[in-house]
Amino acid sequence: MRAASPLRVQIKCRCSDIRKTIQPCRVRASLDIKNIFLDRDGTIIEDRHYLCHPREIRFLPGAVLAMQTMTQAGCRLFVVTNQSGIGRGYFSLTDYQRVHERLLELLAVRGVQIQDSAFCPHAPEKGCSCRKPGTGMWEKLCARHGLLARESVMLGDKKDDILFGQACGFRASMLLCTGKGRKTLAQLGLEPTLSQWSEPCSRALPGIPAAVARDLPAAWSWLQQRYANASLGHACNSAGEP
Ligand SMILES: [Mg+2]
Ligand SMILES: [Zn+2]
Repeated sequence: MRAASPLRVQIKCRCSDIRKTIQPCRVRASLDIKNIFLDRDGTIIEDRHYLCHPREIRFLPGAVLAMQTMTQAGCRLFVVTNQSGIGRGYFSLTDYQRVHERLLELLAVRGVQIQDSAFCPHAPEKGCSCRKPGTGMWEKLCARHGLLARESVMLGDKKDDILFGQACGFRASMLLCTGKGRKTLAQLGLEPTLSQWSEPCSRALPGIPAAVARDLPAAWSWLQQRYANASLGHACNSAGEP
């Protein structure tokens, strides 16, 4: 088999194992998902328990590459993160901003552009509307960028990430097994996925993700297969497209 050109992207249909090689522009045109909302700790970078210094940033394996591919495919990336460490007095707003700026720098030099970000600085007992699963961060970013919920997905490692995506009316919310993901699976009574990803339940139940992915690259793989096939004219319905 000829070595894959870096300019071409492969889409594999899991129902018939047919491989289709298509141009990246075709992927851009065919992906129904335009906006990818990402949790930060445990999803993009290691969850280091109230991370408050730029030197503590450690990308999770494969996360940067996955985000590069998402960016190249024309998806807009948004980071939405609960930072209750600010409200609890563990670190300052300036500490958070320094970490965030460094994160953006590290990603930018690797070809990843974060379209925009939002964070909640409040402690849970404040009862604010911006702490996930509250939808305040979505409302803010939606107003700024004119986003559509049906073109958006949420990827995170906690139940509150899933509930957030569901409350916003997103197309799908995925749970990653990185960070606190395995703990969350146990909390939800779900089995860890043995393959790259799995779909635990065909019905949309509160807090139950549309899919569980091993990590961010696996989540991107699921998104491509789930939301590109139909537009490519291939009759794959094994993912239970609503
Ligand atoms: Mg997290
Ligand atoms: Zn808040």
